[in-house]
Amino acid sequence: MTTVRTRFPPSPTGYLHIGSARTALFNYLFARQHGGEFVLRVEDTDRERSTDEAVQVIMDSMEWMGLEYDEGPFFQTQRFDRYREVIDQLLESGHAYRCYCTPEELTAMRETAMANKEKPRYNGYWRDRTDTPPEGIDPVIRFKNPLDGVVVIEDAVKGPITVANAELDDLVIMRSDGTPTYNLCVVVDDIDMAITHVIRGDDHVNNTPRQINIFKALNAPLPVFAHLPMILGEDGKRMSKRHGAVSVMQYAEDGYLREALLNHLVRLGWSHGDQEVFSLEEMKALFSLDGVNKSGAVFDVKKLDWLNQQYIQSASAETLASGLTEQLEKMGLSTASGPDVAVVADLLRDRAKTWLDMAEAAKPFYQAPAEYDAKAVKKQFSAEAGERLQVVHDNLAALSDFSPASVDACLQDTVAQLEVGFGKVGLPLRVALTGNTASPALDQTVSVIGKEAVLQRLVAAVQYCQTL
Ligand code: GLU
Repeated sequence: MTTVRTRFPPSPTGYLHIGSARTALFNYLFARQHGGEFVLRVEDTDRERSTDEAVQVIMDSMEWMGLEYDEGPFFQTQRFDRYREVIDQLLESGHAYRCYCTPEELTAMRETAMANKEKPRYNGYWRDRTDTPPEGIDPVIRFKNPLDGVVVIEDAVKGPITVANAELDDLVIMRSDGTPTYNLCVVVDDIDMAITHVIRGDDHVNNTPRQINIFKALNAPLPVFAHLPMILGEDGKRMSKRHGAVSVMQYAEDGYLREALLNHLVRLGWSHGDQEVFSLEEMKALFSLDGVNKSGAVFDVKKLDWLNQQYIQSASAETLASGLTEQLEKMGLSTASGPDVAVVADLLRDRAKTWLDMAEAAKPFYQAPAEYDAKAVKKQFSAEAGERLQVVHDNLAALSDFSPASVDACLQDTVAQLEVGFGKVGLPLRVALTGNTASPALDQTVSVIGKEAVLQRLVAAVQYCQTL
């Protein structure tokens, strides 16, 4: 049996689009599930856009997602000789020809077609011409598309799609400057790289009949084609920057877990019953082209957030600690002199949607509040609150055991001693410690921040309250 071989051929554009990431994932999963191979190919023929940085972004994105490829990266710009060889072969076998039309002639051709209410297309002027070519014109090379009959795409997702050859004109396979075009390069690559399954976005479905004709002209076996439904924003329009981040690395920056992003991506156009949460192992075991839906899939940021939260909640202590440390470091916060990151992360895991959220909530564990929230000050701080905080300070200072239970008992005693409700002590205390009134359970927060830092922050808050 032939080995399944899939490919992911992004064009470097400066970022890896979330739709491309989904394509990469599906190709990766399909290859893995069939014990096959997954090839990375960089389609860098647009030399202006294909900078080293843009290529690096692709590599970084693949690495962050953990989509390991078995071969590549291959670069199309390093294969120009091979494309020329194939173009010569097509010329020789009569499947391609030189076209000397000037841009003006092509424009006139299009206008005539439109005036006749026909599709603006090349009319095959040089297809069978044996005239002496005009001087001084660098010709393009066109593929001789069959004139009659139909092309059938046996699409593994959409079912058979039939296109009449009469609908397809003779496409340019080499520009007048000698560079090969996309449709030619892709076919040559897919043949040379022995690709068995072409799984890609349905924005390419119009190219497929043309590519199939080139495969046939080269006597090459056809791969299986599978076109994936478009990714839509929540308003049903094609996913774009208006709907949220479209770059994979932006999700990394924003503190998402790769597992959550991959899980969300796998559900964009693929389903397995009504299961929502899939580990990578499950995806590899369950993925199939049969489960790919025909209709568009909505990228729902809220769902991604929910998934991310699920993954954070169930992450191991190590994953949590390293995720949080990394994010805090990115924010320029040192954890060296503060509490154990694993303890802080565990305290925050139930509330955080992303690493970024968690790191924000973790800040008070590593640094005194730079300022107090104005609303919180208005509600919780006053001269009397300062007096209460002084009592809290003195009572906590007397504790030798700073465990959550001991802190809790101390705070309860303080409330009894002051004859006030718990909020009169707890809320100003939270503001003193974190600058705000939102934090995890107070006894744990106090305990984890640690005695020395807690007492210092209380002194500062008492002083602040005296000025009110
Ligand atoms: N380079 C193309 C793109 O980024 C993909 C071509 C293909 O899958 O055949 O859209």
